[in-house]
Amino acid sequence: MIQLKACRNCRSITDQNKCPRCGGEVSREWQGYLIVLDPEKSEIARKMGIHASGRYALRVK
Ligand SMILES: [Zn+2]
Repeated sequence: MIQLKACRNCRSITDQNKCPRCGGEVSREWQGYLIVLDPEKSEIARKMGIHASGRYALRVK
């Protein structure tokens, strides 16, 4: 099973050792799974400052 990680900077979920979106540091310690399909219409995405669709962690340690 692939260990998923979340970016400490933009909270994007990835299986890479570096965030493919912003190049930030990733962490294995994260909680909550958020799939954003339409960031314009998602209130959570807006609150979190997400402007692109994708998979995100709600909280990254
Ligand atoms: Zn990132």
